Amino acid sequence: MDPQGEVSAVHPSRAERLRSAPTGVLPYYLVVEATAVVLPFAVRSAAPAPREWLYLAILLGSAVVQTELSAKAERMQRFLAGNPHVSVSSVWFFAAALSTPPALASVLTVLIYGHLWLRMASVPGARLYRLTCSVATYVVTIFAARGVADLFGTGPGAPGVAATVAAGLTFFLVNTLLVMVGFKLHEPDRPLLSLAGSVSENVLDAATLCLGAVAAVLLTARPWLVPLLVLPIVLLRRGELGRRLELRAGRDHKTGLLTMAEWRTRAEAELSRAARAGGDCGILMLDLDHFKRVNDTHGHLAGDDVLRAVAGAVRGEVRIYDSVGRFGGEEFVVLLPGIGRVHSVAVAERIRDAVAELTVVAADGTRIAGLSVSIGVAVHPDAGRGVDEVLGAADKAVYAAKNAGRDRVCVSH
Ligand code: GH3
Ligand code: MG
Ligand code: MG
Repeated sequence: MDPQGEVSAVHPSRAERLRSAPTGVLPYYLVVEATAVVLPFAVRSAAPAPREWLYLAILLGSAVVQTELSAKAERMQRFLAGNPHVSVSSVWFFAAALSTPPALASVLTVLIYGHLWLRMASVPGARLYRLTCSVATYVVTIFAARGVADLFGTGPGAPGVAATVAAGLTFFLVNTLLVMVGFKLHEPDRPLLSLAGSVSENVLDAATLCLGAVAAVLLTARPWLVPLLVLPIVLLRRGELGRRLELRAGRDHKTGLLTMAEWRTRAEAELSRAARAGGDCGILMLDLDHFKRVNDTHGHLAGDDVLRAVAGAVRGEVRIYDSVGRFGGEEFVVLLPGIGRVHSVAVAERIRDAVAELTVVAADGTRIAGLSVSIGVAVHPDAGRGVDEVLGAADKAVYAAKNAGRDRVCVSH
């Protein structure tokens, strides 16, 4: 492969990404973008008054200062983002939606994102097409929120309490929905709930909109006090980043599963709890069969796609409070609190079936199927009391499964 080809295989161009994207993604983005372009012309509103231009200037100035102050956090956040993450710039968008005509608020969106792009263009993973999608999504969101506020008969100035609350809810729902549909089309296998973001992400969303409503009231009463909101917003951003970094420290970079250190901490806590309360706790050790062949046939990048897909399949077969970790390479561990031998085997069999049913579409479009996994099951306290003892027993059971011909579940005796 020539160097050019190699680079494009790792960082495909927009056209390549969209061509290889699942059906529906491209039409969806085009529809959202076309709607965003048409809306300002289709929805008639009075020409902006001079004070509304002043609002725009104040919001833009505040947004630029906020972006500059949180530029580092913003870069990190983009680097970390795996979920449709909240943009704290919503503060300014929502404030503009409430206090200026929607077309002017849309101009603000373009300007704020234009500035963001100038600052973020060099960050790995930053893509212009993602930015245009974000702008389009916000423009549609702004028009929807403003449309709902207007139903309450608001004239110029900040809307009343009921109109503000209704507009806030609309902003939140429309924005979340538009982003979730895009992500679902991109990753059809991902559970819908995981696309809605975590509780704390949604709380940050709500906090952002609360500040947006406060900014709208300030704009109409004391516009020059709006920049006072910049520092609280920067701090909100940093707090969220700190939380994400903390979470990330316990996660395996490639698969998003728990790191072994984090898994072990949870397993130790769970086994000592089970020892005190006298319950069972199942531990599964998984090893993909002939995984080296996948790498040898399709390359290591496709191998990584398979690892991610298997991780997703395992998570899909366990309860929310079970812990799934990456032991290393193509080996995974699962902790099943309160689960005895019979049910642990049933879970292991379900995982084996889910892996067998996987069809992984690698970045170059190749389909990889026919995967299988060998699983060892060991249960506390039968197989031992400490994590190492139970894990060692599960590991032995994996070897037994391999020796018996692979693609099966074996239980420690
Ligand atoms: P067996 O059925 O006996 O388990 O065969 P196997 O090929 O799965 O086992 P082996 O231990 O020989 O090979 C494991 C392979 O996993 C070798 C290694 O290159 C690959 N591997 C380990 N970590 C990663 C990773 O992060 N990404 C990719 N793509 N491959 C990995
Ligand atoms: Mg192995
Ligand atoms: Mg293996």
